[in-house]
Amino acid sequence: MSKNKSSECVKVVVRCRPLNRKEESNGPAGGIVQMDLKLGQVILRNPRAPPCEPLKTFTFDAVYDANSKQRDLYDESVRPLIDSVLDGFNGTIFAYGQTGTGKTYTMQGAWMDPEKRGVIPNAFDHIFTHISRSQSDKQYLVRASYLEIYLEEIRDLLDPNHANTRLELRESPETGVYVRDLTSCVCKSIKEIEEVMNMGNQARAVGATDMNEHSSRSHALFLITVECSQPGPDGRKHIRVGRLNLVDLAGSERQAKTGVHGERLKEAAKINLSLSALGNVISALADGRSGHVPYRDSKLTRLLQDSLGGNAKTVMVATLGPAPQHYDETLTTLRYANRAKNIHNQPRVNEDPKDALLREFQKEIARLRAQLNHRKWRNKHKKDGDVWDRDGDEDTAGEEDYEEKDAEDYMTLEEQRLELEKEAIRGDRFLLAEEKQRLLGEKERMMGDLRKEQEATEQLTAKYKAMESKLLVGGKNIMDHTNEQQKMLEIKRHEIAEQTRNEREIQQQMLIQDEETLELRETFTSLQQEVEAKTKKLKKLYAKLQCIKTEIKDVNDEHVRSRQELEQTQNELTRELKFKYLIIENFIPPEEKNKIMNRLTFDPEEDQWKFQPLVQSESKSSQMKKRPSSAVGYKRPITQFARVAMTMGPRTRYRAENVMLLELDMNPLNISSPDRYSESDPSQSPSQDSSPSKDRGVCKSTSWCQSQKSLKSSSSNGSLVACQTPAVAQ
Ligand code: ADP
Ligand code: MG
Repeated sequence: MSKNKSSECVKVVVRCRPLNRKEESNGPAGGIVQMDLKLGQVILRNPRAPPCEPLKTFTFDAVYDANSKQRDLYDESVRPLIDSVLDGFNGTIFAYGQTGTGKTYTMQGAWMDPEKRGVIPNAFDHIFTHISRSQSDKQYLVRASYLEIYLEEIRDLLDPNHANTRLELRESPETGVYVRDLTSCVCKSIKEIEEVMNMGNQARAVGATDMNEHSSRSHALFLITVECSQPGPDGRKHIRVGRLNLVDLAGSERQAKTGVHGERLKEAAKINLSLSALGNVISALADGRSGHVPYRDSKLTRLLQDSLGGNAKTVMVATLGPAPQHYDETLTTLRYANRAKNIHNQPRVNEDPKDALLREFQKEIARLRAQLNHRKWRNKHKKDGDVWDRDGDEDTAGEEDYEEKDAEDYMTLEEQRLELEKEAIRGDRFLLAEEKQRLLGEKERMMGDLRKEQEATEQLTAKYKAMESKLLVGGKNIMDHTNEQQKMLEIKRHEIAEQTRNEREIQQQMLIQDEETLELRETFTSLQQEVEAKTKKLKKLYAKLQCIKTEIKDVNDEHVRSRQELEQTQNELTRELKFKYLIIENFIPPEEKNKIMNRLTFDPEEDQWKFQPLVQSESKSSQMKKRPSSAVGYKRPITQFARVAMTMGPRTRYRAENVMLLELDMNPLNISSPDRYSESDPSQSPSQDSSPSKDRGVCKSTSWCQSQKSLKSSSSNGSLVACQTPAVAQ
C-alpha cells in the first residue's frame, strides 16, 4: 500500500447532506445517493438512466449520510489528524464540493450549538483540552491566522485593511510555502481563538454583502500552529511544530456555465483555474507517473503543496447533495474524491525548526527574567547596605521567591526615607536658605528617579507576565474539567471510533479478497455445474465490463464538456484581449508603447508583470536626458512655432491665427518694459536688444505667453497696455 515506510495516503471521506425543503418540494424523486456506512461505500443512481443501468459504487475511508452528527465525523476522521498535529506533524483538512452541499457546515457549523459545532471549533476544544491535560514539563504556544484567496489574490482576514492589501507567497526550505506578512495571533484559550475565527468570518461576511455571493467564490484557510517544547533525554528543550490547515474551498461547480462577462468572467476564470489546477495536481499525484506536478499553476495549489504529496497528513471531506438535479456535479465530486485517495504523502515530525516562535519567546522571557533579577539584586544590595534604621522589618524571604511585594516594600520605604529626610532639612534652622533649597531639590530629584525606577520595574514585570502568560504550560487546568467521567467518556468514544474504522477496513479488504478467491475454492462435481458457475461469473464480469464502459463514456463526455467550457472561456478572453489590443494599437503612440514594454518584466513568483523603476541605479542617473538648454538670452528653447514664424518672416498668413501674437510682435520693445524687465534688473533689457533675431520677432512666443499669463491673472495691466499700444501705433 505505502510507497515507503513514512508514506501514507490522503484520507478521503464523503458526507451527504439531507434534502433541503426546496428539493423535497420539487418532487417525490428522493435522493440519488445511498450510503453503506459499514463498508464505506457511496452508491449513486443516475436519475436519467434506464433502471437496468448498473449503479455507480465508490469506496472511501469513511462515509457519512444525512443522519450523521458533526461529532461522529470529528471523532472518527479528524481527531487522529489533530492528535498528529499536536505531536508535531503538519495536517490539512479540506472540504470540497458543490456550493450548498455543506462545506462550511462541516468546517464551521453552528459553533454556538455544541451539537452542530464543525471541524474548526471542535479542533479548538481538542487542542486546548490536550494542552491542559499534558505533562507539566511541556510548554505550548498556539497561533492562529485566517486568510482567503479571492480572484487569485491572498487576503489577510485578520487585517482590518484586508481588502486593499495583497499578500505574497514565499518559499523556504524550512517551512515550505508560506504567506509573507500574514497576521498571526497568539491564543491562550478557546475563547481567544474563537474570537479570532469570528473576526475573520466577519471580514468574509462583509465581502459577501458587497460582492454578491463572495463566500462561495473564495477559498478560506484557517491556520493553527501549535509549538510544543519539552525537555529531551539530553536535558535540552526540544521544540516540535505542528501546523494545521483548515480549508473551506470555493464551490466546485463550473462558474463558466452561467455565461458571464467582464469582471464576472475574469472571476469565474480564476475560480475555475484554481480548482482545475487543484484537480490537475490531484490527477498528477494520483497517477504517480507524471514527473511534473503543476503546483505553481495557482495560489491554492502552492499553499496546499505540502498537503498534497508532501510533508503533511491530509483528510479530504467531499460533500454531496442528494438531489437528482445535481447528479452531474455529484458524480464529478465523487470522481475527484476517488482520485485523491491515491495521493501519497510523506509526513514527518517538524523537530527543532529554526523559525520556531516558541524559542524566541523563551529567550525573551529569560532575558526579561534576568533583567528583573538584576533589579532585584540591585535593590537588595541597596537595602542591605542601607544605614537607615528600619525598625528591624527586614525581609528574610529567600532569594528565589522574590515577589513584587518585596519590590514595592523597598520602594515605599525608600520614599518614606526621602520624605523624612526632606522634613529634616526643612526643619533644620542652622542651614542657609540657599543650601536648604539645594538639598531639597536634590531629594526631589532622587524621589523622581525612584519613581522612574519603580515605573520601569512595573513595566518590565508586566511585559514579563504578558509574555509568560502566552506560553501555555501542561498540567494546568485551562478549562474546568473536574469531571473525570467526561474524560473517560471521551476516551471511550475515541476507542469506539478507532474500532469502527478498523472494522470497516477489514470488511473492505475481505470484500476484495472474496472476489479474488471465490472461484479458487470452487470444485465442480459435474460439467453442468461448472457451466452454470462459469456463466454466472461471466454475467458478473460482463456487468462489470458494462460499468467500466459507461464510466469511460462518462469520463469522455465530461472531458469534452470541460474542454468546450474552457474553449468558451478562452474565446471570451481572446475577444477581450483583442479589444484591449485595438485600443493600444490605435490610441497609444508607438514610442510610448515601446517605452512601457521595455520597462516591463515578468515576476514568476507573483505571476504578474511589473514595472522596472525608471531610474535603475545611481550610475545611470547621469545618463538621464537633461533639459534642453535654451539659446543665450532666452528663457526656454525656441518652439517649433516660433522657428516657423522666424523663417516665414513677419508677414505670414499664420500670424492671423493669433491676434495677440500679431499685436505684440509689432513692437517688442514696448512689451519688454512693463512685462519682463520692469521689476527685474534693468541691465537685462539690453540683452533683449542685442538678441540676434530681435528684428524678426523671435521674442514673440515669450511675449505672447507672458501676456497670456498676466491676462489670466489680470494682475498686470502692463500686458494689456502692451497689446493696445502697438494698435494705437498702427
Ligand atoms: P457550502 O459551504 O458547501 O456552500 P453550506 O455549508 O453553507 O454549503 O450548506 C448549505 C446549507 O445546507 C446550510 O443551510 C446548512 O445548514 C445545510 N447543511 C449542510 N450540510 C448539512 C448537514 N450535514 N446536516 C444538516 N444541514 C446541512
Ligand atoms: Mg460555504
